[in-house]
Amino acid sequence: MTEEGSKDKTTETAVKIVLRSRTRLLVCFLTLPLYIIAVWVLLSNSREVGALMWIYIALYSVFAIDMVRRRCPSCGEQFFVKSILLNLFTTRCVHCGEEG
Ligand SMILES: [Zn+2]
Repeated sequence: MTEEGSKDKTTETAVKIVLRSRTRLLVCFLTLPLYIIAVWVLLSNSREVGALMWIYIALYSVFAIDMVRRRCPSCGEQFFVKSILLNLFTTRCVHCGEEG
């Protein structure tokens, strides 16, 4: 077992946890085509899609809020948010560049 450079193991783990919330939101985005197909099928069977839409919107909101709330273990700033922009594609802290 060798320590990897000067990298703090707890920071690394903390960043991995932060990045997990990003993965959840990305997976949610990837299911969008499935969702559209589901809505389309339901509509063509003249079914109610209101509930499904709200569930999906709620799921997005929960994941997005979770991601926005994540803080960088190094600088304590919001990991993905700089001013009002949510950076979905970064794997580094948008403030100090900390990565997992
Ligand atoms: Zn940071």
